[in-house]
Amino acid sequence: MWSAPVLLPPAGYRVRAPLFLCYPRYIILLTIKLLRQLSLPALGGFLLLATTGHGQDDGQDDTTARRASGPIRPAAPAGQVAVAPGYFLFPIAPGQPGFLAASMGELRPNHFHGGLDIKTGGGVNKPVYAAADGYISRLKQSAFGYGNVLYITHPNGLTTVYGHLNKFEGGAGAELLRRQYEKQTYELELFFDKSQFPVKRGEEVALSGNTGGSAGPHVHWEVRDAQDRQLNPLQWGGFAEIQDHTGPTLQTLAVEPLAIGARVRGRFERAVLVPRLQPAPGAATAWPDTVTCFGQVGLLLQGFDRFDNAWNKNGIQRVTVRVNGQPHYQHIIDAVPFPMGTRQVNNFVDYAYARTGGRTLQKLWVEEGNDLPFYTPPGLGQGKLDVQDGKVYSIDLELADAYNNKATAHLVLKGEKPADYVKLPGAATPGAKPKLTYDISRNLLHATVLHAPLDTAGQPQYLLLRRGGRQLALRPSYSVGAATTYLYDLRAGLPDSLLLGDVHQAFDRQAMIAPGQEINYATPYANVVFGAQTLFSNLYLSTLHRPDAGPTAPESWTVGTPLVPLYLPLRLTLKPTTPPTDRARTAIYSVSANGGRAYVGGTWNEDGTQISANLKQFGQFRLYTDTKAPTAQLLGRAGGQLTFHVGDDMSGLASYKLLVGGRFRLLRYEYKNATLFTVAGDTLGPKLRGPAELHLADQAGNEKVIQLSL
Ligand SMILES: [Zn+2]
Repeated sequence: MWSAPVLLPPAGYRVRAPLFLCYPRYIILLTIKLLRQLSLPALGGFLLLATTGHGQDDGQDDTTARRASGPIRPAAPAGQVAVAPGYFLFPIAPGQPGFLAASMGELRPNHFHGGLDIKTGGGVNKPVYAAADGYISRLKQSAFGYGNVLYITHPNGLTTVYGHLNKFEGGAGAELLRRQYEKQTYELELFFDKSQFPVKRGEEVALSGNTGGSAGPHVHWEVRDAQDRQLNPLQWGGFAEIQDHTGPTLQTLAVEPLAIGARVRGRFERAVLVPRLQPAPGAATAWPDTVTCFGQVGLLLQGFDRFDNAWNKNGIQRVTVRVNGQPHYQHIIDAVPFPMGTRQVNNFVDYAYARTGGRTLQKLWVEEGNDLPFYTPPGLGQGKLDVQDGKVYSIDLELADAYNNKATAHLVLKGEKPADYVKLPGAATPGAKPKLTYDISRNLLHATVLHAPLDTAGQPQYLLLRRGGRQLALRPSYSVGAATTYLYDLRAGLPDSLLLGDVHQAFDRQAMIAPGQEINYATPYANVVFGAQTLFSNLYLSTLHRPDAGPTAPESWTVGTPLVPLYLPLRLTLKPTTPPTDRARTAIYSVSANGGRAYVGGTWNEDGTQISANLKQFGQFRLYTDTKAPTAQLLGRAGGQLTFHVGDDMSGLASYKLLVGGRFRLLRYEYKNATLFTVAGDTLGPKLRGPAELHLADQAGNEKVIQLSL
């Protein structure tokens, strides 16, 4: 394990176990309070030690540095853009029935879907029309992301975005081709002013495609405001082309305890409520059983919406919660700040649960670190419920789509204060040996002991948390069958180990990292630099360094867990025990549990002892040296054009260039089927005849030139 700074209570502070065992609850509460007070100066000291001047000259790219210091989102609230119904023309086959594959605001990995996915009948090269008068303000040709994308800015300040296109029409497209030849590159982005390429509503501006990160032919269509917020295009009365009389479907409702004293059905565990039957049209989904809970709890839901005559599962625009008839919570997904706010989806849903193959549950409260403009009124914590003993909470949910079709649900919570220790019925678990496991959520250590040894009163023994020579005894909170749960607020200080009877387990988190500040967590093997907006909430960081153990297990670094999302990237610096000899071709790769590896990249420092890269996700990392150049194979000459299949064993294709008789000819790259190809109608390039060279390079800088005779 990495040696690392950990916070310790001041010297002279001693806790003796026997004291705890004699005076359990009172002393423990007092101790937690004490620890909390005492560890504050220690925590401050730790941060002071661990913080370095992490300025703009630390190698982070400009964009990240600028974003880290800038505002999270523009000040203007959502829903202030007035657009007359009918202002926008439906950009694909206007006047005919249209179909959507996705709605705006759908919950995707790492982003809210930013616009409408308009179906194009399963094919490409369908005309794409300007949605309103304006001018082409931006064009980008890329093999990734939005693919080939066109932006039209309108006189009202809004911009419409048309993504995954095949071909740009008109003067702007010709200008792009000219500049691609000038710069000898396919990947290019151009910005235009008002006077260059004005367009009229209904003018054909492009042909549809399947370029970039697209899973099938369609046009991704967005409306953005002047602050680059992605707006729901259906919020101004919708389109006659898109019919929707179908309300949302509620799949799951869940109730979750949010604080150490909170319980749901007596446990510190989420209750997942799946309706047994879908309700009759117009009727509410209801659960006949009252759910007992106590303390601070939150609701979560999983659901989808459908448009008429399409089977795609789309997003729900609005969710409203009423408690005992009173308004309690509402969110409307009609404006997502781009590009930063869209990553808030990882905080809007239960990220770990969605990643581990569970359901995508959206939280019906404003989570810590959530700055999305979805809430009226805005405010942290809004939506949380404080359930009191003996009180009844009648919950009514309303789910609505962009056309205001609705679904409702009803659930009753009843407050029931748990005793200090509760034995709940549960399945008998075979075996008698104590077994200790733990996890961490919301600042809480949640330890479960199977077959905990009992004390003289027949209750499970206290769990001891050790740090250095000190220890803290935790009373059991409740047992379910043979499993006993212990809860501890880690803000009072991190233990080194957990102990119960003969069971001793090291605690694998070395530090608490708070959001909102720049922190350099430095160890002999690596530095992890957190920016002010890297984290959504407190992180309990685990790091692990494994030395080189031969060719199948080279040196590795594990930083955190991929189940905790990052908002902005962190900066990872690895200090390998033996710096590689071929540094130029050696980079950081993330490795998965099943042995897969993905190129991350990295920049070496001047003396070649450290390599740094920005990470969007926690995980396990290794250094690999890529010495093999990319490969290519001419697949054929269909229609007189060339198609190559390309491959690279490790770092991936970084650049490509086709020269025919020494002259540049534009190639397009399609990563989805690993092909490079020329296109017909390219008036600027040389004819595909005679001697030619295909130049390829990978991310590690390995180059290859393939000689061809066309
Ligand atoms: Zn899309």
